[in-house]
Amino acid sequence: MPAYRSSSSFHVRAVAALALTLVALAWLVGCGNGGSGGSQALAVAAPVFDGTKALAGITTQCAFGSRAPGTTAHDNCLQWIQDQVTPLSSKVLVQTFDSSTFYGGPYHFANVLAWIGPTSGTPMIIAAHWDSRPVADMDPDYRNQTTPIPGANDGASGVAAMLEIARIVKTWSTPLPNPVILAFLDAEDSGNATSSEPYMGFGLGAQYLASNWPAGWTKPASGILFDMVGGDGKSDPRIPNPPVPGHIAVSFALETNSLNANANLMNKVWTMAETLHHSDFSRSSGSQVTDDHVPFIKAGIAMIDIIDVFPVVWHTLDDTPAHCSADTLHQVGDTVVHVLYSSI
Ligand SMILES: [Zn+2]
Repeated sequence: MPAYRSSSSFHVRAVAALALTLVALAWLVGCGNGGSGGSQALAVAAPVFDGTKALAGITTQCAFGSRAPGTTAHDNCLQWIQDQVTPLSSKVLVQTFDSSTFYGGPYHFANVLAWIGPTSGTPMIIAAHWDSRPVADMDPDYRNQTTPIPGANDGASGVAAMLEIARIVKTWSTPLPNPVILAFLDAEDSGNATSSEPYMGFGLGAQYLASNWPAGWTKPASGILFDMVGGDGKSDPRIPNPPVPGHIAVSFALETNSLNANANLMNKVWTMAETLHHSDFSRSSGSQVTDDHVPFIKAGIAMIDIIDVFPVVWHTLDDTPAHCSADTLHQVGDTVVHVLYSSI
């Protein structure tokens, strides 16, 4: 996930985000979390999202090593994602491209697209990045700051959640009402706040896919991004100062770009989470984050971001499976699967 290292610009953005979010919150309150919406949500039947299985998926990815660009672990994880998702999907596409990053290259990159659910109709896109950041630049020990991060929460968690969704949808007796494209995006996390490139050099895979939508794949109208959806929300004795002061527990707040792009979908997701009593979701105002959803929004796909901004271990060597939680994964996966089966 991108940085917000410039505290002054973040402050400006945060103030703007707060103003916009207050407006949006008023809209959300005004339009509708009424009892009828909750009753409808409760009536949705959906397969059980197994957070423990998703957590195992994080462990498997991290066992390859850091999936930083240009590494053998990156190549091995790409193959593993294809091997996992192919039997669960009606079609799979590996979209390759070459690019340099802030930290080196050029590298070979690959987005993996997998189609699940009905084979026709307008799909929703669910996406997460699968690469790892090549530098632990938030690590409190400066000697670690040029080492690639394990990327358990920041990368592997979203992939693991998407694979668990594909698995349970494939085995559930009721077909999905609408198709879904699972997009495993490469090259998200090699940007830098000092970069002059678009999106500060973050989100290269998302930018490429948004600008080069593949022939034969119906373009989605909306979507959901997973980013850091598996953290344990616990402090870390090695990291005395969290990246966001006071933020320890997991909180999926209302990210501003998402609200501006698709407040309706955001309301549906957060309402579903509330109905299911998944307390990691919060209607508090989130910050404005330049993440993989933004290139898609600009390309006409109204995408929202489920993101925890930011875990204590973010961009450090302690972003490991030990700092991940099956319960957090379950809360996110269970919420989204219920939304998918609610025929939105
Ligand atoms: Zn990151």
